[in-house]
Amino acid sequence: MILRAEDALRQYWGYDSFLPLQREAIESVCSARDSIVVLPTGGGKSICFQVPAVIMPGLAIVVSPLISLMKDQIDALTECGVPAARLDSTLSQEERSQVRKQINNGELKLLYLSPERLVLDNFIDFLSGIKISFIAIDEAHCVSMWGHDFRPEYRQLGILKSKFSGVAIHAYTATATGIVRDDISKQLGLNDPKILVGSFDRSNLIYKATTRTNRLKQVCEVIDRHKNESGIIYCIRRADVDNLCDKLKERGHRVRPYHAGMSDEMRKRSQNAFIKEECDTIVATVAFGMGIDKSNVRYVIHAGMPKSLEHYQQESGRAGRDGLEAECTLFYSGGDYGVWKSILSDTEPAIQEIAQEKLNEMYAYCTGIGCRHKTILKYFGQDLNKENCEACDVCQGDIDLVADPLIDAQKILSCVVRLKEKFGADYTASVLIGSKDARIMENGHDALSTYGLMSHHTKNIVRDWIEQLVAQGYIEKTDEYKVLNVTAKGWLVLKGKESPRLLKPVMKLPKERKVSKIATDSWEGVDERLFEELRKLRRQLADKKGVPAYIVFSDATLRDMARRKPKTKEEMLRVNGVGETKLKQYGSNFLDAISTST
Ligand code: ADP
Repeated sequence: MILRAEDALRQYWGYDSFLPLQREAIESVCSARDSIVVLPTGGGKSICFQVPAVIMPGLAIVVSPLISLMKDQIDALTECGVPAARLDSTLSQEERSQVRKQINNGELKLLYLSPERLVLDNFIDFLSGIKISFIAIDEAHCVSMWGHDFRPEYRQLGILKSKFSGVAIHAYTATATGIVRDDISKQLGLNDPKILVGSFDRSNLIYKATTRTNRLKQVCEVIDRHKNESGIIYCIRRADVDNLCDKLKERGHRVRPYHAGMSDEMRKRSQNAFIKEECDTIVATVAFGMGIDKSNVRYVIHAGMPKSLEHYQQESGRAGRDGLEAECTLFYSGGDYGVWKSILSDTEPAIQEIAQEKLNEMYAYCTGIGCRHKTILKYFGQDLNKENCEACDVCQGDIDLVADPLIDAQKILSCVVRLKEKFGADYTASVLIGSKDARIMENGHDALSTYGLMSHHTKNIVRDWIEQLVAQGYIEKTDEYKVLNVTAKGWLVLKGKESPRLLKPVMKLPKERKVSKIATDSWEGVDERLFEELRKLRRQLADKKGVPAYIVFSDATLRDMARRKPKTKEEMLRVNGVGETKLKQYGSNFLDAISTST
């Protein structure tokens, strides 16, 4: 069976080998053993059920939560020559009966459905006369209340085991926690499922985190490294989205906004423009992302700190699904920590406590000096088995720590003490830099020995260091008025018995884009000029067909083409990602382009 799977992978998708765990996942499907497959975004989950669907007799049912996801997958399957369709509310009566006809005639290998449609009584009756090869549940964490994306409609999928007796069910998700996994199995009533959990390390993502000193300038530095490439910029608030988007537009960048305050219509327009590459960059709140399968997102910028590492992993994970290098840069400030804290203060105490802990971990990640890949993996309970990831600012030596942080920390802490632990971070920072603020003068704090002690630094920097001391537990903020208090640990610093870590204000951001090993490797031998030519051609062909460019060929495939420069159809088939159907459709266009430009 696995040999047939390899053949299908080559023939339809043009790939030579499986990605980690794809083989095992396919074996479970082919042997009709229920399974739960947990792979990170970009790990290649779809192939795990699409390849078996092609080689097994009958029709595979795929449950998917969003119409946009279904559409994307069906476009991609059709391009590869795999007969697939979807049934959903956006289709006309005529289109729907056409699909039913195809099902009855045994012409389809995969049928994509929403959970609510699959559990409809009359639909189950309709399917009872059809040979079903298996049922695949995509984004299966939606079934669990413990996941971040619970959908009540997914709960109804619990009836599938009894309604489709003898049909194996396979669940796929990128959500890593054990609780969610167990819950998926329980809710779906799986029978001794094979559990496959991949590594959550996204080794092609280059993580960077740095303090935010000038948002627009820092964001532009990243965008400029990625001219004409796709990217996402996340902001905390809608107002930040609008503001940043306007400024980027003024500077001539092709950007569109996306947030929950926009109408459905406007949001859809932004999303489509992004997918069709009519714009390069989306500036968005967290509302943007679910349902975006765009594989060639080359950078994700966080212009503000997210509220948890789960959010960060998910949002940054939208970069580099094609396995090529992608840059994930986070610009944070102590102020972001404060913003989230005050948003959280409105929630129930039990939830607040968990959220607060997550927020602290997020902040610790930002200000941390350990490998970013390791920190994220550790958070999800996994280890990275190499010393240097070669793909984060820490391992690449791009972050700068203050050489002797003790003195600066002591200045800050002693100022908190002199202010009798009655003032907040902003006020304390103002005193330290020697601000002439009226309130300070009225309070007579210009007479304190710590007044102006850090006047050679800007207020932002001192404010940031205060937050770094809060995150490391040397200072505490009172719940109500956010007044600073020195903790027992903080007193150890004052006594010189312990030293905190403080980050230097501005990180050395590399100007060049190809700094990491992963980037150098993936560009190895690629004729970059030809790659650009092929990208243009891909865009034209995609526009003509009305499909997203990455569905015609992924960036990884185009780079391989611009590396091998095939001259014949046989050589073209050897390019990773060129299967037989795509060769027929596009082979001669790309062969012509290669021969004229080389
Ligand atoms: P996920 O759903 O897990 O995020 P996808 O199924 O979208 O991942 O796959 C991510 C990318 O990897 C896609 O561009 C896909 O074509 C590619 N891919 C999947 N399997 C392979 C493979 N065996 N070899 C090369 N590329 C692959």
